[in-house]
Amino acid sequence: GTFKIELDTPAYKGSVSCNTGLFINGKYVDAVDGGTIDVINPSTGKLLTKVAAATEKDVDIAVEAARKAYKTSWGLKVHGAQRGALLMKLANLLEANIDEFAALECLDVGKPWSESRIADMGLTLRTLKYYAGWADKIHGQTIETGEAKLAYTRHEPYGVVGQIIPWNYPLTMLSWKIAPALATGNVVVLKPSEITPLTALKFGELVNEAGFPPGVVNIIPGYGPTAGHAIAMHPHIRKIAFTGSAITGRKIQEASAKSNLKVVSLELGGKSPNIIFDDADVEQAVKWAAIAIFSNSGQVCIAGSRIFVQEGIYDTFMKAFSTAAQGLSAKTGDPFSEGTAHGPVVSQTQFDRVMHYIDSAKAAGAKAFIGGDRPSHTTSEGFFINPTIFTECTPDMKILQEEVFGPVAAVVKFKTEEEAIEMANDTEYGLASAVFTESVSRAVRVSNALEAGMAFVNCNVTTEYNVPFGGYKQSGYGRELGAYAIETYTQVKAVHINV
Ligand code: NAD
Repeated sequence: GTFKIELDTPAYKGSVSCNTGLFINGKYVDAVDGGTIDVINPSTGKLLTKVAAATEKDVDIAVEAARKAYKTSWGLKVHGAQRGALLMKLANLLEANIDEFAALECLDVGKPWSESRIADMGLTLRTLKYYAGWADKIHGQTIETGEAKLAYTRHEPYGVVGQIIPWNYPLTMLSWKIAPALATGNVVVLKPSEITPLTALKFGELVNEAGFPPGVVNIIPGYGPTAGHAIAMHPHIRKIAFTGSAITGRKIQEASAKSNLKVVSLELGGKSPNIIFDDADVEQAVKWAAIAIFSNSGQVCIAGSRIFVQEGIYDTFMKAFSTAAQGLSAKTGDPFSEGTAHGPVVSQTQFDRVMHYIDSAKAAGAKAFIGGDRPSHTTSEGFFINPTIFTECTPDMKILQEEVFGPVAAVVKFKTEEEAIEMANDTEYGLASAVFTESVSRAVRVSNALEAGMAFVNCNVTTEYNVPFGGYKQSGYGRELGAYAIETYTQVKAVHINV
């Protein structure tokens, strides 16, 4: 089937459509058992459409199609330049249809138009183009060895790669996964989140239009415990790349151990510290603190959710930061309305989860300095939550230990640099971190001391397609983006030649 609606909004006018079947072997098909998933619009709480829900049988069919494509029409059979050209064609097709993709993402996730159209779609396009350029630049090394031998290395694809992604940046996450996998010669079976499958399904249309051989890219929405689990267990999938929660990450790793020891890379959650020192440029610190915790309604794995503020700058910072949050609250609303800068959270489940954390923080004695409730002017059917700032937090509170994944900041006052570093590292997560200071030595000293895969100095949550992205500790392992993703999607063969 297809989903189609006409929009006449300030941000977007025109039709938006996508196929609602599973994209397998270049065709849209129903699930074998006929199962479907309800897709809800988070701004209204209403049903947008239903899409096919893959189960184990559909995963088997998709993996078979991918294996066949790998053997006959992709992998090492196809020159890198040809793979790159197809990827570039795909990027160009996306660029030509970018407004419609942005609109579909707004409907499905509730993102404000500007975030979807500019930030997400921009990064998605740059990622596709970047890896299109990599496809014919994947080299090994030559090594001279003893006894007149010569050795060289090849970076070969794994074959069928399974990819499982979350709902917060559906198309961007898809591009981070699919682009480096295809550039390096793998074929993919990708499962988007059951909550936000629409842009991924539409992307399949472009895959066909670009001219990829059938089966190279398969996109199958489905639930985690069924379709996701079947991907993680599949004996013919050699590598799995996962982005999502730490709990699911463990299950993926367990499934790999129980099945065929497929190589696993994990991008998991975070509880990233944002440290603001007395000597910081307060205007910059406030601007980035707000972006870091409120953009995408806080549903960002690298969100700056724990804000440590030094005592000398505390009052000034809090005054400006709460003004920024209040400004954003006034701009909460429908993604397509003019001036909207803050949308709903993605689902009723997510809404309940964030509210539960807000209630637990209040019960534990933290103070809701700003927010902690629904905006008064938005519809009660949508999943809207005001930008929220908690103060008087202590490190043992749930709100400082667990990932909320909503527009909720927890602020802690500190005295010394040592104390700030210690509190910042007091978490099992280690995804991102940020430091605001005008002192170069302090910036370097503190960012070096933070246990995180990413450290931002006088900025926050900036993601670049050519810079590695990934975590320390229980935030996962393996890296996406940049040259590092080429390693993530290849295995090294050493060839010895007797000369
Ligand atoms: P989630 O773990 O519930 O789901 C992620 C994906 O895993 C979905 O596609 C889901 O269907 C699938 N899944 C669920 N159970 C599964 C199972 N047993 N086997 C296989 N697959 C299964 O996470 P979510 O709620 O979609 O996303 C939010 C989480 O993702 C947050 O914790 C966030 O920090 C994290 N995240 C991390 C990054 C990163 O790069 N580090 C980026 C975005 C989101």
